[in-house]
Amino acid sequence: MRVNRNTAHRDPLYKEDLPVLRGDGLLNHDLLPDESGPQDQCGVFGVWAPGEEVAKLTFFGLYSLQHRGQESAGIATSDGKKILVYKDMGLVSQVFSESSLESLVGHIAVGHNRYSTTGASSWRNAQPTLGRTASGTVALGHNGNLINTAELLEMLKLKYPDQTENEITGGNTTDTAVLTALLAGDMDHTLEATALELLPKVRGAYCLVFMDETTLYAARDPQGVRPLVLGRLERGWVVASETAALDIVGASYVREIEPGELIAIDEHGLRSTRFAEVKRAGCVFEYVYLARPDTTINGRVVYEARVEMGKTLAKEYPVEADLVIPTPESGTPAAIGYSQESGIPFGHGLVKNAYVGRTFIQPSQTIRQRGIRLKLNPLKEQIKGKRIIVVDDSIVRGNTQRALVQMLREAGAKEIHVRISSPPITWPCFYGIDFATRAELIATGLGVEEVRQSIGADSLGYLSKDGMVRATNQEEKQLCTACFTGKYPIELPAEDRLGKDLLEKPAAACEPGPDSELDAILKASDD
Ligand code: 5GP
Ligand code: MG
Repeated sequence: MRVNRNTAHRDPLYKEDLPVLRGDGLLNHDLLPDESGPQDQCGVFGVWAPGEEVAKLTFFGLYSLQHRGQESAGIATSDGKKILVYKDMGLVSQVFSESSLESLVGHIAVGHNRYSTTGASSWRNAQPTLGRTASGTVALGHNGNLINTAELLEMLKLKYPDQTENEITGGNTTDTAVLTALLAGDMDHTLEATALELLPKVRGAYCLVFMDETTLYAARDPQGVRPLVLGRLERGWVVASETAALDIVGASYVREIEPGELIAIDEHGLRSTRFAEVKRAGCVFEYVYLARPDTTINGRVVYEARVEMGKTLAKEYPVEADLVIPTPESGTPAAIGYSQESGIPFGHGLVKNAYVGRTFIQPSQTIRQRGIRLKLNPLKEQIKGKRIIVVDDSIVRGNTQRALVQMLREAGAKEIHVRISSPPITWPCFYGIDFATRAELIATGLGVEEVRQSIGADSLGYLSKDGMVRATNQEEKQLCTACFTGKYPIELPAEDRLGKDLLEKPAAACEPGPDSELDAILKASDD
């Protein structure tokens, strides 16, 4: 049995070192996680900086990207000779300690925050994932979602003809694991050459940050669906999902990693190779909800885009009222914009517990009946007797607004006008947001008036698609608006290979009961 002890994998659950590459095969359960299903909205971070504590820089980078994924976190480092990985379930601050960070030595690091809403959470699904290359090891973190995983699995079988599918995949097929296995195992080429051959064949949304013992790599899909930026430290380089992470580690913004670009950073400096033509289709929902407000995407500050969305919303759906309140925190910039444009005072009517959804303690039945209050509690004195405009960034299943409206009525609101700073979400995302299937999206089966009735508001207004697009300062043809329009910029494979339903089903048939409703509201625990 050949065991590579250089890549000992610290498994925090078992408090012992597990060799990642064990047995004769290159692939095993540690490389290929045990849960199939989509990868979701995630945060990635990478650093190449001799003389810096790269694990700590990565920790703080991931910490600032926590909103992009709260399920698991991991960091891999290299000192030029060997790669170490530490990953576990939970928030960045729960996974790492001073001592685990100190043990992650080296001058190169990649890190990852994972977010998943489907299937069982498991340690094996945490990233970075590992594989062996010609020169050593590859450690990979991925943000996005691939749509030709089935095709890539076929490639994997060709690459490892002597192994059964089960031996190759361990019965497991997450897109990140398949990518890692395709980058690995190539004993005739460098990792860079393998990546340049592989990436043009990968379809879907991907921001990859990966490394071997000597080199940090970052790659972005030709559409640039998810953000990925390059920053400069005095003594090195940083790549990160969002510019806010650069600010936090003290790196200056250099530029975006271009769509279709692979960069490599090592002792010789930074090399850039274009592996595909740019067909820009940046996710518009990053501006609406996903990214931090203090991040800049393609030249537009996200906060400013959101305020603008709120202003346009006020022009498109004006109403007489006494107070504009946000659904905290994601609705706040748009509520500020709505207030500025309408002249109606802005105030807080709801107080949010910032830590909700992150507890592992199941609420008791009595607490469950209090529902949304676990997350949002009304400021009764602010609300009583007033005509209230509630602004939120989006309605997905409708649970949040339904519960909110009821709570605001109980708190004595005279009228409740819901304003949403994006259009109705009617299509699933195949590029990295784990939205509900079409059947669960409330606006798929119901028109605006029916949604209004369903949530119980006195009026409801959604921002127009054009208003949303204008606020981003991007050209519509350079954005992905698929969740609002059904126009998918990267051609989707046949329905049976998608894994998500594209067929229309009535939303009403899928309305959740009170228990699952609370779970859904807790899950939608944005920052
Ligand atoms: P609903 O209750 O309608 O299903 O969800 C709407 C709420 O979820 C909104 O407050 C919005 O800010 C938030 N939200 C929208 N998209 C996402 C997402 O992808 N993940 C999470 N956790 N929350 C989201
Ligand atoms: Mg929200």
